[in-house]
This record gives sequence, structure tokens and C-alpha cells, in this order.
Amino acid sequence: MRIAIVDRDRCDPKKCGRECHYFCPLVRSGRAEVVKFDEEGYPVIVESLCVGCGICASKCPFKAITIVNLPHELEKDLIHQYGVNAFRLYRLPYIESGAVMGLIGKNGIGKTTAIKILSGQLKPNLGKLDGEPRLEEVARYFRGSLLQEYLIQLSKNEIKVSYKPQYIDKIPRVVRGKVGEILRRVAGENFDKVVELFELKHLLDRDVSALSGGELQRLALAACLSRDANTFLIDEPSSFLDIRQRFRMASAVRSMIGDGRRILVCDHDLAVLDYLSDKIFVFYGRPGVFGVVSGPFSVREGINIFLNGYIPSENVRFRSERITFHARPPSRVEEVEGGTPLYWPEMRKSYEGFSLEVREGEVYPGEVVGILGPNGIGKTTFIKLLAGIERSDEGYELKFQSISYKPQYPEPRDAVVEEVLREAAGKRFESEIYRGEIIEPLSLDGLMDKNLMELSGGELQKVSIAEALSRDAEIYLLDEPSAYLDVEERYLITKVIKRIARDRRAYIFLVDHDLMVLDFASTRLMVFSGEPGRSGVANPPTDLRSGFNQFLREMGITFRRDAETKRPRANKPGSKLDRLQKQVGEYYYLGS
Ligand code: SF4
Ligand code: SF4
Repeated sequence: MRIAIVDRDRCDPKKCGRECHYFCPLVRSGRAEVVKFDEEGYPVIVESLCVGCGICASKCPFKAITIVNLPHELEKDLIHQYGVNAFRLYRLPYIESGAVMGLIGKNGIGKTTAIKILSGQLKPNLGKLDGEPRLEEVARYFRGSLLQEYLIQLSKNEIKVSYKPQYIDKIPRVVRGKVGEILRRVAGENFDKVVELFELKHLLDRDVSALSGGELQRLALAACLSRDANTFLIDEPSSFLDIRQRFRMASAVRSMIGDGRRILVCDHDLAVLDYLSDKIFVFYGRPGVFGVVSGPFSVREGINIFLNGYIPSENVRFRSERITFHARPPSRVEEVEGGTPLYWPEMRKSYEGFSLEVREGEVYPGEVVGILGPNGIGKTTFIKLLAGIERSDEGYELKFQSISYKPQYPEPRDAVVEEVLREAAGKRFESEIYRGEIIEPLSLDGLMDKNLMELSGGELQKVSIAEALSRDAEIYLLDEPSAYLDVEERYLITKVIKRIARDRRAYIFLVDHDLMVLDFASTRLMVFSGEPGRSGVANPPTDLRSGFNQFLREMGITFRRDAETKRPRANKPGSKLDRLQKQVGEYYYLGS
């Protein structure tokens, strides 16, 4: 089976020579009907006639065409197709009552499409582009399965869905008013419970437009979980939450199981998804081209399949590289020790209502120091002291260092990606080193001519990381680079960050709430403790084992290691391993 996708965002028939038509060997041999043009001028490739040579894809100057050969067996599993030469989703996940179903997969591979179908926002067309089948017909297609029952109930309006969208930063555009008013309307008698659970008390009088990403996420989760519904579809609940909030959220979601409720969660933080879910569906395919749903698997098996990039039951390899973890803390400091360390003395910095105590420490050139701690604990203040931008209360003003900063919430602005990166990188932009260091690993080629305003959250995040890393600086501060990125992209950015630190002998500070990202990227860890918004303590950099232990002890969470992939898996609170690890003081690195 062959599918041809024409990306209409990239295709620009007015600016090309219609190479897709001109060079197609079938068209040239007289079969003009293989590539036609619609009334808007876009090409229409007739998949049943196309032989899949791929010449049109390679000749198109805007890389707008993708031709893929898929196994014939998938043909019968087509659930939804967005248009003639457009994205399609094969198979659907289902939601069992009394369990949390987890979805895992790259961005752009159909997870949101599946959620929209299951919420009733999108009617699946089974690939029939001339008139949608009715939901009952679609249900019949799933005869004998749990999906049939679900879709029948959905068509009869017996499914009451509560949906938490992925991009919570768009909420202020559609919802207005104060947090307390909004929540009171939605939560009813659950108001007090969710306010406490999601730590919203101090925000009740605040306007929704003044909330940070983490605060918006907590409000969105509180609203979603408190609605009078029987089906909860939760898209990326972890973004912008700190680690403690993530596990609190996960416990809150799990506490909803029962009374016939159905819960489906999609998230890219593997530790959280593991903790949350009872079963996992794996999505694979090509972003923007096609997605296939596989499963359900047990949580352990599903996540391991995803990390291994291989589905044994289908004999499908969907990634050539395995994502692997190390079971023991690596001694990476030796790799980077040498050179003059950047030293800082014990310092204090006070503002009205907030103070930060900094313990004496140092960082080596080429290091990536992971920063663990809640939001609002003084991480940016620390970097400003370190770079000599701020003077401490004692009057210390450290030698000025240039800083490049990736903000926690990248703001879209009216500028084209290429201009932004050119300006940040200067002359380096044209070099092969720059391409190999930043453009290629972050797959930015396809975004170069796009405006920042039209990028998705994940794309904007990648451009923002690239912009920060393109600047020449001595210190880099990357604040939550993993938000909106999928697992594979997270893995890739950690590689890019480590390489840049090493090659440029830079000091990189990485703030993130995904343990996997910190685990992959950091040479050492700094733990920030204290009371967010009031007082913070910046502890000195320490090795990974001590850092994770120090931080997780405060959180009260322990992790065991998966025997196969060595990935960290959160222990259930009070379980035998949890108690044992707490007893011996090993919160993170312990073999399973
Ligand atoms: S697909 Fe490429 S070659 Fe064909 S019309 Fe569009 S831009 Fe031109
Ligand atoms: S893949 Fe080959 S046969 Fe098919 S439309 Fe493109 S050029 Fe023509």
C-alpha cells in the first residue's frame, strides 16, 4: 500500500515549476492523471496509480511531498484521513473503565487526532472522503470490541467527556475572569478539594491572563478533574509542573479510578506516565504523514517497546536507535574537569518578599549542571549573581560573564525562524559546524521559512533552544527546554546540549522537571530548596547520586530501575522497595 502526502503548508504552486508533475515518470510517459492539480492549484497524487518512485518528493523545491510504502494489512485499519493526500491514522486506542490508559509516541503522529475522536470532537471517516459515515457505522466497524461499545455510547451522548487540552497557554484566549470564579463554576462541590490538591488557594483572586504556565496547567487540571463527567481525556498534564506537582497530579488522576470512570492520558514524561497508567498504547509512524496505534501493552512492556523502537508482536522497527539509560551514576565530572572553574562564594541576595542564600561552589568549563527545584525558588537570581549582573547583599560582584538564556515560556514574535537564528549565530550560521551542531539535530530545516507566530508549541520550543545555543556566551541557562517536546526530541536536545558544553567549554545550567532529561544531560546537579516565592537556598553542585538523593528525599519519592532498559520507575508509595530504598537512603540509583 502506498500513501502520498502533500504538505499544503509547504507546497507553493505559485513559486515552483510544478516539478512534481513535470518529473513524474508516469506523467512523462503519457499518464497525466497520476499527478493532477485541484482548483486551488495544489497537486493531487492518485495513490492507486503512483508507483512510489519518490522522484516528485526529491524534485519538489519546498520538500512538500512524502511518499511512503506501508504494509497492506494496515489498509483495513484506516480510521481517519484528513484529505486526499493528507495525514491518516490507523487503528484507535480504547479506554477501559476502571483503568488509566496511557498514550506514548512522537508529536504529530495522531495522538491528538485519537483524543479528538474519542471525545466526539472529530468523526472518524474510515478513509471515506466523500461524506462522513455516521458514528454508529463506525462503531459497527469495531464489532465485538470495547471500542464498539464506547462509540455506541458516544453516539447516544452517554459519554460525558472532560478534556484537558495540550496547549494550556491558549486558555487565556478563550476563558476570562478570576481563577476562583472560573473554578467555582466548573468544580461545584469539588471546589475546596481541587483548590487544595492543585495548590490554587493563593491564586483564586488572580485573573487567568496573569497566570504562569505552571499555574495555568494546575487550573486546567483542577477544572478537568472536577467536572461531572465519566470520561477524562488528559493531554500532556506534566508540562510546566515541577516534579512534586507532577506526582501529586498523577496521584490525583489515579484517585479518580472507579465508579465506571474512564481515563486516558497522553504525556512525554516517562516516569510520570509509568506511575499513572495501567496500560499503554504506543503510537508510531511519521509526523504529519501517518500514525499507527499499537497495543494495549502492560505499562512496563509498552514503555520499553517505545524506548527500544521495536514492536515484537508486529515485527515492526520504528526507530533505528534505542534510547537507553545508565543504571549507575556515571562519573562524568572527570570528563570535564580541567580548565579554570567558575567559582562563587557563599552569598545572599534579598529582594522585597524574597531572599536567596547561595552556598559556595564551582562549575567547570564544559559542564552541564542540572538544576532541581520548584519554580520561583531563585534559579534566575542565582545565574544573575554568577554572571556578575546582580550584586549580592554582601557586595560581591562576580566577574562579568556573557549569558544566553532560554526562557521557560518562549514567546512567539513576528519574525521568521531563519532571521532569528541568523541573528543569534552571526557568521557561524553559514558554517557546516553550525548545521551539524544545531540545525540538523533539532530538525530545523523544515521550519526555516516559517514565522514564529505559526509554529506549534514543540516547534517554538526547539527554535527557542536553538536561538539560545546559537549565541556566543560563557554561561547558558536553559529553563525547561523539554516542555512540549516528545521523548525522542528530549533525548536529542540532551545530546545537543552536552556536545555544545563540551565543544565550547561553556558552563551550561539546565533547569528541567523531567528526570530523564536531567539524567541524560547533567554532569552534576544543583538542588534548590526552600519556599517558592519567599526564600530559596542554592546548594553547591554535587554528583548525580547525591543530588538525586537529596532532592528525592525531600519529595519522598523513590525510583527503581527497569531490568531491561534501566529507566527509572517510580515506586508506589509504601511499597516494599519504597520502604527499603528509603531505609538505605538510595532514592534513584538502585538495580531492580
Ligand atoms: S508539491 Fe512542490 S513541486 Fe509540486 S506544486 Fe507543490 S511546491 Fe510545486
Ligand atoms: S512517486 Fe513517482 S510515480 Fe508517484 S507521483 Fe511521485 S513521481 Fe509519480
